[in-house]
Amino acid sequence: MKRRGLVWFKNDLRLHDNEALIRAHQECSNLVFCYCIEQSDYEKSALGFRKKDAVRFKFMHQSVLDLRKNLESLDGHLVIGETSAMDTIPELVEAYEITDIYGEEEYAPYELDLVKAVMDRLPALEFHFFWGKTLYHKDDIPFKIAKIPLTSKAYRIPAGREAEPRQTIDPPSKLNAIKGVKTKRFPSYKLYGFQEKEYQDAKPLVEGGETAALKRLQYYTFKSELLTGYRWSRNKSDGLDYSSKLSPYLALGCISAREIYERVKAYESKIKKNQSTWWLVFELVWRDYFTFKGMRLGTAIFKTKGYKHKEIAWENDATKFERWRSGQTGIPFVDAHMRQLNQMGYMSNRGRVNCASYLTHDLKIDWTWGAAYFESKLIDYDVSSNWMNWHMQTFEIWYTNPVHQSNKYKAQ
Ligand SMILES: Cc1cc2nc3c(=O)[nH]c(=O)nc-3n(C[C@H](O)[C@H](O)[C@H](O)COP(=O)(O)OP(=O)(O)OC[C@H]3O[C@@H](n4cnc5c(N)ncnc54)[C@H](O)[C@@H]3O)c2cc1C
Repeated sequence: MKRRGLVWFKNDLRLHDNEALIRAHQECSNLVFCYCIEQSDYEKSALGFRKKDAVRFKFMHQSVLDLRKNLESLDGHLVIGETSAMDTIPELVEAYEITDIYGEEEYAPYELDLVKAVMDRLPALEFHFFWGKTLYHKDDIPFKIAKIPLTSKAYRIPAGREAEPRQTIDPPSKLNAIKGVKTKRFPSYKLYGFQEKEYQDAKPLVEGGETAALKRLQYYTFKSELLTGYRWSRNKSDGLDYSSKLSPYLALGCISAREIYERVKAYESKIKKNQSTWWLVFELVWRDYFTFKGMRLGTAIFKTKGYKHKEIAWENDATKFERWRSGQTGIPFVDAHMRQLNQMGYMSNRGRVNCASYLTHDLKIDWTWGAAYFESKLIDYDVSSNWMNWHMQTFEIWYTNPVHQSNKYKAQ
């Protein structure tokens, strides 16, 4: 029997450099494509806010619609599940006699549990998962995940010396999609409990989707040549141009880290190779490091005592937490950044460092509350980058004074 495949898009909302997509295309005679929204992700947690807020919903919405448009341009389609992969995938498997499921390999506990639940529900199917998140493939780094070093230098130097990013993969020129697959409109935000005002007020910093991601990469490199000054501008906070703004696209997989790497290498050979081009790749290697270290540490990265089991006397004043969240602490540098986060789902790295330090060291509030709040709002939310950076700010980094920092890094 010929294989009939289902491509399950998750945080890999792109056609380029997508191994699951290309392998499904090569190995199956007919394909169905789907993305599943998890309705429970929009419920409120014990801390009083949603796991994913309106600004994240909107950015995902834009990214999924762009993926659908790009799939349709290759004779494909995209089924959008409204409630859960646990509902949509079994329905599609039955309706279209699917034999094989293809997707990106997951690495974090919650996502792994969901994948496992779907696999348990469909024991007769073949599942094929492909690693696609990081710059270096996890099989190419000189460490087993269980032995990833606990300091970044001990990882970065051997990884940089011994690993090479794999080449990006071109998308298919036409898709062998099953004909007549029924697709519905993108579901309304109302289904996830959002009110019209909160939805309208949410304004993601950048437009979602692979098309916008590739455009942003081209702009930041060859079009504006801003990349040449990145090393010296990256600590600023104001505007769009001091840093790449590729993190939201990386988070939903609208762009791959390898695609960025190849563009930086081309820029080095055609425009300029300097400390800035080195530094952008260095940041992608940091991202890799946090991913692999997070995989090693598992659920310990979400715990109040951190993975080193350090006891801190938190005060956890709920009123102060509320002021921090709403950008009303009275410290302008913190408040401006928190308000930007609330509306646009983004904050500069300098802002993140200061807001995290202020919450944990000045207000003495449990860092996991702050990390959960960033998770709710950030359009570039990435499990390991968020929780490992928060962990580092809390347990490993000196206190940063937001007044000194605002003078040092004020918009220039
Ligand atoms: C408390 C805290 C929470 C954070 N949460 C997240 C998060 O959820 N998702 C996220 O992508 N980044 C997170 N970061 C890291 C960093 O702030 C963002 O990656 C960066 O601001 C994104 O903007 P950019 O794409 O313009 O970055 P650029 O400076 O242009 O960097 C290019 C890319 O390198 C990666 N990168 C840069 N800095 C870091 C870093 N410190 N750690 C890991 N990767 C990095 C990102 O993928 C980024 O897109 C957090 C940092 C802190 C201090």
